[in-house]
Amino acid sequence: MSVPQSVRAIFYTLDQPAPIVANRKTGFLPVYHATLPNQFDVLVVGGGAAGLYTALCLPPHLQVGLITKDRLDLSASDWAQGGIAAAISPEDSPKLHIEDTLKAGVGLCERAAVALLVEQAPRCVNALVEMGVAFDRQGDALALTLEAAHSRRRVLHAADTTGRAMVTTLVAQVLARKNIQVLQQAFVLDLWLEDQTCRGVSLLYDSTLIWLKAEAVILATGGGGQVYAQTTNPAVSTGDGVAMAWRSGAQLRDLEFVQFHPTALTKPGAPRFLISEAVRGEGAHLIDDQGHRFAFDYHRQENLRPETW
Ligand SMILES: Cc1cc2nc3c(=O)[nH]c(=O)nc-3n(C[C@H](O)[C@H](O)[C@H](O)COP(=O)(O)OP(=O)(O)OC[C@H]3O[C@@H](n4cnc5c(N)ncnc54)[C@H](O)[C@@H]3O)c2cc1C
Repeated sequence: MSVPQSVRAIFYTLDQPAPIVANRKTGFLPVYHATLPNQFDVLVVGGGAAGLYTALCLPPHLQVGLITKDRLDLSASDWAQGGIAAAISPEDSPKLHIEDTLKAGVGLCERAAVALLVEQAPRCVNALVEMGVAFDRQGDALALTLEAAHSRRRVLHAADTTGRAMVTTLVAQVLARKNIQVLQQAFVLDLWLEDQTCRGVSLLYDSTLIWLKAEAVILATGGGGQVYAQTTNPAVSTGDGVAMAWRSGAQLRDLEFVQFHPTALTKPGAPRFLISEAVRGEGAHLIDDQGHRFAFDYHRQENLRPETW
């Protein structure tokens, strides 16, 4: 692949300094410079819940590079509040969870995808609990709350900072793994394609273009909420991975499915702060400045399922 002349390009080798790397002791900056392997077995692009969990699921004999364009503690995952749904209560079942999801999806869901998500959820939640994620408990049991469109209490949470509880635990696990090298503030620009094969990624660090080789690259770069003027997503949510995949010839689908969230706190000059739907699940109402419960004007189920807005 030809390297653009306008930028300084280097291939990292064993004896060259790496870009910023997480400190295994503190987890976050300040950082030290270390050496990078000149080739990874797997590169995971993204340090949110998806990237962290994926890296942990890879066999420990593989050399894994996990790349984030900002700090490891800055992702939508870290900001997630309300919780994570899984049919784990004795009164619940994956079958009911599937039915609720298909109903909420008003015919637009792909059943196989829903089934996969719902059926895997209890096992994944269990894995998170075993790793040490401190979900809230009621007595000995995991506490479950009710959210939009769920017919059973099935949302696990850790106060209203569920994402942070998950990310903190996953980050600690990742940093403890000898086979995973974390690269922070390293901006992946594109997949490195040669003869229609992905050879790694090109990334920008400190105005330097770097080419990192890998046998496999996993894109876990999160959503693209920042394309909207009003968003509760963090600044890193710019849909980079979707764009990279598209530029590399991948077929994209269902891009119109973007979660619309009706409640956020607006303060001039400050980022929008999401007010979780769990608040409505527990009985709060949407009202306008006249006290009118306006959501009934759009849907008979008012607060919980405004799917036809
Ligand atoms: C305020 C808020 C509240 C939410 N509440 C809930 C909730 O209660 N329950 C729920 O299920 N979901 C919730 N969500 C949604 C949930 O947080 C996301 O769906 C989920 O965290 C996405 O995880 P992810 O790992 O795919 O992406 P992210 O967590 O966004 O991580 C993306 C990662 O990719 C990295 N990255 C992106 N582009 C590049 C690049 N070019 N180069 C290198 N790295 C890159 C970023 O640095 C980041 O590390 C909420 C979201 C927000 C914003």
